[in-house]
Amino acid sequence: MKKQTIPYGRQTINQDDIEAVLEVLKSPLLTQGPVVREFEEKLAAYCGAQYAVAVINGTAALYLANKVLNVSAQDKVITTPNTFLATANSIALNGGRPIFADIHRETFNIDPDKIETLLLGDDAYKGIIPVHFGGLPAAMEEIAALAQKYNLFVIEDACHALGGSWKDSNGELQKIGNCAYSDLTVFSFHPVKHITTGEGGAITTNNKELYERLIQFRSHGITSDPQKMSENHGRWYYEMQYLSFNFRITDIQCALGLSQLKKSGQWIKRRNEIINIYDSIFDSHPSITPQYHPKDSNLSYHLYIVQCEARDELYSFLHNHNIAVQVHYVPVHLQPYYNATYGYKKGAYQSLS
Ligand SMILES: *Cc1c(COP(=O)(O)O)cnc(C)c1O
Repeated sequence: MKKQTIPYGRQTINQDDIEAVLEVLKSPLLTQGPVVREFEEKLAAYCGAQYAVAVINGTAALYLANKVLNVSAQDKVITTPNTFLATANSIALNGGRPIFADIHRETFNIDPDKIETLLLGDDAYKGIIPVHFGGLPAAMEEIAALAQKYNLFVIEDACHALGGSWKDSNGELQKIGNCAYSDLTVFSFHPVKHITTGEGGAITTNNKELYERLIQFRSHGITSDPQKMSENHGRWYYEMQYLSFNFRITDIQCALGLSQLKKSGQWIKRRNEIINIYDSIFDSHPSITPQYHPKDSNLSYHLYIVQCEARDELYSFLHNHNIAVQVHYVPVHLQPYYNATYGYKKGAYQSLS
């Protein structure tokens, strides 16, 4: 008998998820119906933000976040080189220039000191996109302070961190996605992430104007709001005021999202139990250094990441034992596209390979 593989990631779909999806399939509207709106409202409340906009995937959400903050040709935006490609690509896809600031050795998150070094050398930056790597929040207070000082936007890439919360230096609990220290926060609902809609993503914000721009850019740059139109020819009239794509998510997917969101809390608890078990084993292991995990936190982890000298051997050993681990990540600046386009070289960021 073949030994069962422990997959890299696997969604949990129960009968209630299936029934929620079936209900929409039997309803008149498969897309642009009421379920998208309901999911957005529940998600915004869950994150403690005023607004949420759901879209086709996390990559589109990141792209739109840059778009509504007016990233365009040659604008420089700072992000981490240790992330999934989509974070940096979202800047480049808007014509901007991703500039990397190195990560902190213990948190594996973007280092605010390295951000400031960049900012001191050049005043032409437009924004910062920190990633809450593995679910561990980036240094948001420091990053927000830099953004204020240098007049930059902040987009949180929280694709690893849905449902987590952390205490700021005033002792106030901050939910990931509440945008207390950012303009926009982005999530992904790919099946390996905390909850899934098949493919899906969302942006949360407290800024009404950004929210309205997100809605408009989600659907071809069209508005049918009489307040926003240059002319009004009647109830049938609509205007395309910007150039954009169709990034709309379906009601079918949002029904799954709503059903999954209800279970997010119990899944986060289970993830924390597992993290604690791993920590108790690896914290004193001679050749394995896990990512820093604060004790007694309410974080929502996506990955358990360790550093290890014998990475290739460990990877092969685990795969030979049917445990499907991954390397997180191939540093973005070392990808052939980034090398060819921006000339980034190996060794540019000391904390990464
Ligand atoms: C998953 C992920 C994305 C992209 O989300 P998709 O839904 O797969 O498009 C972006 N950033 C990070 C950090 C991610 O982990």
